[in-house]
Order: sequence, then structure tokens, then C-alpha cells
Amino acid sequence: MMKKYLSYILLFGFPLFGCQNKVAGQAAYEQNWKLLEQENSALAFDADIKLSDAETALDKKLFQMRKQFLAETETQKLPLFSRSFNELKPLIETSKLFDVLQMMPKGGLLHTHSGGITNVDWIISAARKYKECYVYDQKDNDQFIFGQLAFFAKENVPQGFVSLDKKLISDPGFESKLKELLILKRDNLCSYTDYWIEFEKRFKRINLLLPYRPFFKEYYLKGFQDLAKDHVQHVEIRFIFDELYDFQHGKYPLKTSITDLQDVIKEVHQSNPQFTLKLIYSSFKFLDPASIDKQLEVAFGLKKEFPDMISGFDLVADEAAGNSIYSFQNNWTKLNELSKKYEVDMPLFLHAGESNSVLNKNVLDISILNNQRIGHGLNLIYFPKSMELIRKQGKLVEVSPISNQILGYVSDFRNHPARVLLSNGVQCSINSDDPSVYGYDGLSYDFWVAFVYWELDVKALKKLVFNSINYSSLNKDQKKEAIVYLNKQWNDFIQKANQKLN
Ligand SMILES: [Zn+2]
Repeated sequence: MMKKYLSYILLFGFPLFGCQNKVAGQAAYEQNWKLLEQENSALAFDADIKLSDAETALDKKLFQMRKQFLAETETQKLPLFSRSFNELKPLIETSKLFDVLQMMPKGGLLHTHSGGITNVDWIISAARKYKECYVYDQKDNDQFIFGQLAFFAKENVPQGFVSLDKKLISDPGFESKLKELLILKRDNLCSYTDYWIEFEKRFKRINLLLPYRPFFKEYYLKGFQDLAKDHVQHVEIRFIFDELYDFQHGKYPLKTSITDLQDVIKEVHQSNPQFTLKLIYSSFKFLDPASIDKQLEVAFGLKKEFPDMISGFDLVADEAAGNSIYSFQNNWTKLNELSKKYEVDMPLFLHAGESNSVLNKNVLDISILNNQRIGHGLNLIYFPKSMELIRKQGKLVEVSPISNQILGYVSDFRNHPARVLLSNGVQCSINSDDPSVYGYDGLSYDFWVAFVYWELDVKALKKLVFNSINYSSLNKDQKKEAIVYLNKQWNDFIQKANQKLN
């Protein structure tokens, strides 16, 4: 009997036992895998967001829409990856996803610049209406460059400038040529361009337009109206202050820019009563510490007079060509003293890490300084300790995906460093940096790129949108009001988008 039992075990028992082990092993493997999956998502920047049933329903629809979009591009053999924004733009505009993202409330645009907000077609058509507007139509020299626009009194027009309106009438091809000169395109990802040189030329071509007071007001009104149309409720501009002027009065004090912008905002309020604006006083990284001292004094002076309009201070320009943030340490250590003198704080909003190089160490300064928001932070992922500090300190990275591609820091959007930041729990917001220079309006394009290439879901979109108000420079009461408004807009959007995609 025993022998028979043993032969039974030998024949069937051991295999059965082995099978049970295998099942138990598989269950443990699955459990470990699922645990790891949960642990990874718990580290992500949007881990605290819980979706409502309606949001979950929309999430499923958007997931399917993206899947279908990707399948269609596959069928049509459209190269979707490693393509420049310029090549992708028509595809984005005709996609159903773009319609939905255009409907989405964006919250705040936290990172944009004074010379890069307003549509280039509009700039040309508005500028030509002024008989005192001229364009430089000669070869570049030390002072002026081809296509540079400016206002002059009739008796003071420098040589080489011709009336813009007359030039546009007499040379029918000039309008599109001028447009090309005002927009920076990365036509494809392979050809060589000295991006920053070309980029700065775009700004130079309109720099003499903006301080002309009548044009200044029109420019910002149009810029803000277009942003409001794209469901942006709040804007913070890295603002380069210049004395405004007109030909009757001459120059106005610096603060006229602020009071004029307050008037412009009142006009925007007629159609968009919730719209808010803050200015970040911006100077340049290529200046020396002594000049930055002077700039800081001016910024403090303006903030003391307009504490509700000026939110902080930044230094802009190509990080590879300019001075490091570290080299301005004497300026930063004086901030406390200046705060006491002027009785206002001056938080920093520095551009840092707009670079692919580990030799650029600007992100290191961010965790040491009172700098709640970082412009770009592309190379932050190569400084793990700083990345951890920035995450723990609850600082936010202002990400501008399209700008980063056009200026040559990223080619394939799928490989944008912000994906690493987001999955590691670093808070981010989506921004357009200089949309008019890149040839588009609003913030929907950047959200489209992030949604499609970074495989975002509604949870991530919601967190990015709400971050842009939570990390804004709005004061406590304004923020509260802005969140109430955004919540309402968000819920309306979820409902409308769900209906639209039924
Ligand atoms: Zn910027």
C-alpha cells in the first residue's frame, strides 16, 4: 500500500506540488509588480488628484481619441515623432484633440515675455496704420537690421528706413517676407540654425515699436484678448521696462507702462472680468553685477509703488552666452537689505537650466534662493540632489515644450525632460514663452504637445492647469477667487467636452 502511495506521489504528487509553487510564485510576482506600479505612480506630481466620475469618463474618451489619432497617423504613414513644431502645426490644428484642448480652461500663463505675446500678422497690420511707422529695408549694419520696425517723427527718419505702409503697397511680396523675419521657425530638425542669434533678431525687429505709447496699449490689449479667448485667465509677463514715449509729449516715466497696463486690463475686463496680470521685472544675464544692483533698485522702487502689479525679479537671455546666476551672488545677498529699505519682498523667478549641458549649474542656485518658480529647468534632471530639493521645497518648473524645441534643446517631444520631472514629483506648469515669435497664439498648442507626446491623462492636465494658479503670484484673496473661477470653468469644460464627445 505504502509503495503504491509512494509511486502515486512520484507520479502525480510532485508535479502537483510544483504546480502549486508555480501559481504561488506567479501571484507573488504579480503582487510585487502591481505594488511597484502603485509606488511609482504615488511619486508622480499628480498623485493627489482624484477624478470625479465625469472626469474619468472624459479621460477615457480622450485616451481613445489620442489612440485613434496615433493609429490614423500610422495608417497614413505620417511621421509624428522627430518632427518640428512647424511641420506638425497643420496636423495639430486639424485634430479633434486640439478642439477639446482649446475648450479647456488653462488657468494662468506663468511664463511669457513682453516682446513675444502678440500675433505677428496683427503687429504688421496694426503698425502700418500709423503713418509714423517705418521699416528698415537695407542690409544689416551695427545699428539696424533688415526688417526692423520703428516709429519716427517725419523729420527724424534715419537713412535706410521707409514708410511701412508704402513699402507693403509697393512690394506685394514684402508682407510675407516681413512675417518670416518676425517668426522663428525650426523648419526641420536637421538643418543648422544659430537659434539664439536668430531669436534675438526677432525681438530686435519689434523692440522699437513697443515703447511707442499708442502702440504699446494696442499691442497688450490684443495679446491679452487672444489669451483670454484661449481660456487663459491670468498672465505673468517677464517684463522688460522701457520708458514709453509719444511725439507730442516725449518720454514718460517707467511707471507709465504699469498704469497703462492697468488701463488695458480694465478694457479686457469688459469681456473677461476675471482676467488678471502680474509683471516680473526682468533684466539681462549679460549685464554685470553693478548694473544688476541698479536694476534691482529700480525694481524695488516700482514694486513699492505697485506692490500688486510687480511680483518679482528675473534675468533673461541665452544662458550659454550670459553670466551664471552664481556670479550675481552679491546681488542676491543684498536682497534682504533692499527688502527692509523698500518694505517689500522681491521673490526671484529666474530662468535657470535652459540648457542641455551639465556645465550650466544655474539650477543649483534655485534651492538656495527665494525662487518659487524656475523658468525651463531643462537640465535639472542631471542634478539629482537639486531636483530632490526643488521637489521638497515645493518649487515649480515652468515648462515651455514648443519653445524648447524651436530653440534646439529638444528634438523629439517624447524625450522632453519635463517627463522625468513630472514622474519624480516635481511640480510643473505649461507655458508658451514667446508664442508670437514661434508663430502661434495661446496655450493650446503647448498643451496638445504635452498631452500627445507625454501620454498625459486628465489627472495630469488638471494638476498642470491648477498649478498655474496655485503657483501664481496672485495674493491670497486673488488666488482664492481665481481658484473658485477656475473650478467652475473646469467643471463646465468637463461637462461640455463629455457632451461633445458623446
Ligand atoms: Zn523665457
